Amino acid sequence: MQTKDFLNQAEKYSAHNYHPLPVVLTKGQGVWVWDVEGKKYLDMLSSYSALNQGHCHPKIVAALQTQAEKLTLTSRAFHNDRMGPFMKKLCELSGFEKCLLMNSGAEAVETAIKAARRWGYLKKKAAKDKAEIICCSGNFHGRTTTIVGFSTEPSYQEGFGPFTPGFKIIPYNDVEALKKAITPNTVGFLVEPIQGEGGVIVPKQGYLQAAREITKKNNCLLICDEIQTGLGRCGALFVCKDEKIKPDILIVGKALAGGMYPVSGILADETVMDVFVPGIHGSTFGGNPLGCAAGMAALGVMVEEKLPQRAKELGEYFVDGLNKIKHPAIKEVRGRGLLIGVEVKKEYGSARPYCEKLMGLGILAKETHDQVIRFAPPLVIKKEEIDWALEKIKKLFT
Ligand SMILES: *Cc1c(COP(=O)(O)O)cnc(C)c1O
Repeated sequence: MQTKDFLNQAEKYSAHNYHPLPVVLTKGQGVWVWDVEGKKYLDMLSSYSALNQGHCHPKIVAALQTQAEKLTLTSRAFHNDRMGPFMKKLCELSGFEKCLLMNSGAEAVETAIKAARRWGYLKKKAAKDKAEIICCSGNFHGRTTTIVGFSTEPSYQEGFGPFTPGFKIIPYNDVEALKKAITPNTVGFLVEPIQGEGGVIVPKQGYLQAAREITKKNNCLLICDEIQTGLGRCGALFVCKDEKIKPDILIVGKALAGGMYPVSGILADETVMDVFVPGIHGSTFGGNPLGCAAGMAALGVMVEEKLPQRAKELGEYFVDGLNKIKHPAIKEVRGRGLLIGVEVKKEYGSARPYCEKLMGLGILAKETHDQVIRFAPPLVIKKEEIDWALEKIKKLFT
C-alpha cells in the first residue's frame, strides 16, 4: 500500500478526532522517521514530547524485549519485581518520597485531582463535597470528561457536558489572580510550568515560586503537570527543579517510558500520598512490569546521556538560530530547552500551512493553537541535525 491507500483507510475506518499531516510513518530511529515511500524526515514533534530519548532507543527496546518474554502483567493484585526498582529510581531522581503509577497522562492528572480532593477533605478539612481546584486558562491536562470540563478551549468541550464541578479558572501567569481565587475550600492549584499545548507559553520569571509561596501560605497543594515539560524537555529534569521549588504533587507521563509504552504517574511525599488506602483508586495496567522495565531503561538513558543538559545547550543554540531568521511573518520565538514555539503573525495566516510546507522540506512539526509552530525534537538530536533543520526552516520563510 502507498501513502494515499493508508490515508484512505484511516479516513474510512478511524474516528476523525485528529487532523494529522498526510504522512504515513513506518520506521523511526533516533530523531529520524521514514514514511512508507521511503522518504526520511526529522521528527520535530517527538509525539508531543513523549520521545525525548528518540525513536527506538536500543537500550529501551532491549529492556522491553527482555521483559516481554518474561512477565508483562500482574495487575496490582500481586506484586511484581519491576515496579519497586522503577519507583525507587523515579523517586530518587525527582526528590519525592512516593509515587503512584498510571498509564496515560490524563489518568495521572485524574489521580492528582483525586489525591488533592481527598487530601482536602481528610487533612485540610474542606467542607464536604465543596473542594475547589484552581486551574489556568489555556491549560491542557488531557481529554477525560472531568479534565475537559476545566479546559478553556471550546472545541475540547463542545458536546461533552455536563462537566464535573469544583474547578475554578484563573488567567495563566497571574499571581494576583491566584491569591484572589483561593477560598477556605481550595485544595489545590493545578498548573503547567510552561503551557505546551497552549502555544508554548512561558510564564514570567518567579511565577512558579510565587505560586509555591501562595499555596503553602493558604494550605493548599501545588500540583505541577510536567507531563510535557518534564523529563529533560525544558533543559532540566523538571522545570520545578530548575526553579528550585517542590510542588506537593508532580505529574509525569509521556517520556517516562521513552515513548515506547504508556507510563504515567504522580509523585508526592507521604503526607499527601497516604490519603490513598486499598480499594479507593487503581488501574489494571498501572505499574505493570513491562511498562516499569521500559521506564527504568528510559530513565537510565535520560541520566546516562545527560538529556536535560543536552536540551538546555542545544535549545539555546536552536533558539539563537531561529532568532537569526528574520522574516516579517515571525512574531516571536520562545521556549525553554528544546520546547520551542515560533509564533506566526495572524496576517500571514495560520501555522498549519507552514507545517505542511515543512513536511515537504523533510521536517515534521505540528502547529499548536493556530499560530504557533512547535519545535520539540527528541533530546538526542545532534548539533549538525539542528543546523540541517535551521537551513530548512530558513528556506521555509524565504
Ligand atoms: C499530553 C499532556 C497530557 C495528557 O496526556 P495523555 O497521555 O495524552 O493523556 C496532560 N498534560 C499535559 C501538560 C500534556 O502535555
